[in-house]
Amino acid sequence: MSDLDSLAQAINGCVDCGLARSRTHAVPGEGSPQAQLMFIGEGPGFNEDQQGRPFIGPAGQFLDELLASISLARSDVFITNMVKCRPPNNRDPFPGEMEACSKYLDAQIEAIKPKVIVPLGRHALAKWFPNESIGKVRAKARRFGDITLFPLYHPAAALHNGALRSTILDDFAKLGDLLRAPAPPPETTPAEAGPVQGQAHPGESEPQSEQLSMF
Ligand code: SF4
Repeated sequence: MSDLDSLAQAINGCVDCGLARSRTHAVPGEGSPQAQLMFIGEGPGFNEDQQGRPFIGPAGQFLDELLASISLARSDVFITNMVKCRPPNNRDPFPGEMEACSKYLDAQIEAIKPKVIVPLGRHALAKWFPNESIGKVRAKARRFGDITLFPLYHPAAALHNGALRSTILDDFAKLGDLLRAPAPPPETTPAEAGPVQGQAHPGESEPQSEQLSMF
C-alpha cells in the first residue's frame, strides 16, 4: 500500500473534527502519486461528498477544461482540498477544522513532493500567506525551497461571476508558461530563491516571481 493509499484510508476513517458527523464520504484527493503539479481547493461540495471524489461538480468540470487548455489531464496532476470532509451547506471551513485536517495535506505534499502547488482560492492561499489577498497574488510564482507556489482563483469563482472566467483562463495560460519555461540556473539556491516551505514571510507585500521548467 502506498503512502497515499494509507493516508486515504486514514482520512476515510477520520473523526478528528466535527465535519466527520455530517459527511457522506470523506474526499482524500486523487491523481498521480508522482504528480509534479498539485491543486489544493477549499473543501468538498455536495457532489464530492456524495461520491468521495474531488472537483466533480460544475467547478470540477471547469477545472478539467482549464487543465485541457494547458494540455494536462487529471491523471497528470494531484487534486485535493484543505479539508477532506464537506462543511455543511458549503460554509467556509472553521479554523479548527482546517487545523485538524492540515496533517493530511502536509503528509500528501510530503508523499508526492510536487514541484508546483496551486492553491485555489483564498482558503488554500492562507495556508502559506494568511495575510494576502488572492486577487493580489494570483498567477504569480513564489518559490519555497524545492516547491513553487502559484495561487489562482478557485474555479468556482467563475460560476458565481462569469466575468472571471476569461481571467482564470488567462491565469492558467500563465501556469502553462511557467511549466514550460527554462529551469533556473544551477547556482540558484533555496536561500537565494526565497524562504522554505512553512516559513512564509507573511509581511512581504510582493511575491517573488520565478520561471521554472517542470515537465
Ligand atoms: S475534515 Fe479532516 S480532520 Fe475533519 S473529520 Fe474530515 S478528515 Fe478528519
